Amino acid sequence: MEVTGIVQRQAWLNKVIPPVEFLGNGLWSVPVVFPRNPMRYTLAYVIVDGGDCLVIDPGFDSPQGRLDLKVGLRAAGVGIRDVSGILATHFHTDHLGMAGWLRRASGAWLALGKEEKRYISAFEDPAEESEADRNRMRTWGVPEDRVGEAAMSVEDLLHMRRLADPDLRVGNGDRVPIPGFELAVIETPGHTPGHICLREESREIFISGDHVLPRISPNVSLEIRGDADPLRSCLESLDRIEADTHFEVLPAHEYRFRGLQDRVRQLKSLALQRSEEVVRELSAQRNPTVWTVAAKLSWSRGFESLGNLQLRLALSETAAHLQYLRTSGHTHFIEGLPAAPLPA
Ligand SMILES: [Zn+2]
Repeated sequence: MEVTGIVQRQAWLNKVIPPVEFLGNGLWSVPVVFPRNPMRYTLAYVIVDGGDCLVIDPGFDSPQGRLDLKVGLRAAGVGIRDVSGILATHFHTDHLGMAGWLRRASGAWLALGKEEKRYISAFEDPAEESEADRNRMRTWGVPEDRVGEAAMSVEDLLHMRRLADPDLRVGNGDRVPIPGFELAVIETPGHTPGHICLREESREIFISGDHVLPRISPNVSLEIRGDADPLRSCLESLDRIEADTHFEVLPAHEYRFRGLQDRVRQLKSLALQRSEEVVRELSAQRNPTVWTVAAKLSWSRGFESLGNLQLRLALSETAAHLQYLRTSGHTHFIEGLPAAPLPA
């Protein structure tokens, strides 16, 4: 793997926000702050071609974030009102969050992956939905005094519901309507059910969203109303993209790099190592639950230090591994995993 975003990497190491960068051919990289989050920023990509302007992953909506995006657009020689299209690689707030405001301010269309059902918009009553999630946490063995931290609160749910709905849905083989660019959509479920990546053949660039990042393994979680076997989907999605190995990868966080195949192999092997760790725990425990397995796995800052969202992510990642093992033929019974068809 070769880091091509040298300045971005240096900024990452120095714990500062990298600068706006011109990547050639009407393409700009625009860091947008992601407040109170260790990822620190989302890399939005701005494409300008004639009278059209596309913003990919506008980022988390905050006053500073709006300013960051305006600064990036100005560097690209355009203003907010010139934005004609917005695309989010997935629905998470650090990608889709600012899309609602940007659409209102510009009148642009908004595109999202075909399968990106915001599972949150499927419910009627947020209180009922939150209670269902709390019950799910109980079946995962979460101690009663930690259930409130691990489950989705009514506020979390309402926040998700306020995210913008797309005007346009894109899937495999579709072209993003921006003239002068051949941005082809590849569906890459895993991190979310409808995550998409974009490849530009003639410019040899690959916009990877959160599916492939250079430094961390993207979180893959078993989520309420989500994919029934998200880790399997993620591994299949990694297989789908590794061929473009000489393309420059433009991720949504951290820094740009080249060497997609190497990175894909690393990510797959890390996921499988993690599954082996889960198998060892399953064999060592008498009545394993999602909680007791998660508590014994290695976490960078230790399981005891995890709280709130970080705790939820750790539990739902563990559950994704347990579900993957179950659908791979492991026979341990774990409560609270959804029915999923066993692969042939
Ligand atoms: Zn992200």
